[in-house]
Amino acid sequence: MARRKYGKLLLKFPLYGFDWEVRSVGVNSKVLDADGKGPGSGVCYMNDHVIYLSEGVTEEQARTTLAHEIQHAIEDHSDVDYTTAADDEATADRMTDQVSRGWLMLIRTCPELLAWLSGK
Ligand SMILES: [Zn+2]
Repeated sequence: MARRKYGKLLLKFPLYGFDWEVRSVGVNSKVLDADGKGPGSGVCYMNDHVIYLSEGVTEEQARTTLAHEIQHAIEDHSDVDYTTAADDEATADRMTDQVSRGWLMLIRTCPELLAWLSGK
């Protein structure tokens, strides 16, 4: 059973066969402090397929934050761990391929997400 979701639904998009939600929460929401280091501008809950964005940032910061969190979702799904690529160009390039495929999938299948990210 899915955990409770917080905040206001901004948009939904499919990724790797899952329906993801992007939700907006207050600046001090506990969901923004997943690592206990204080609330950030956004966070990605991989198992819940939810990305939370802080209401306390500008629209452009929210777009950047969403792109950052989606990147994390793609990396997690593709088993990309950049720390294993230190000084290994072939490994780093393979990781770039893996992440590129994720973005290509989003570009092909998520017009609402692309519109949101482009601010239109
Ligand atoms: Zn991050």
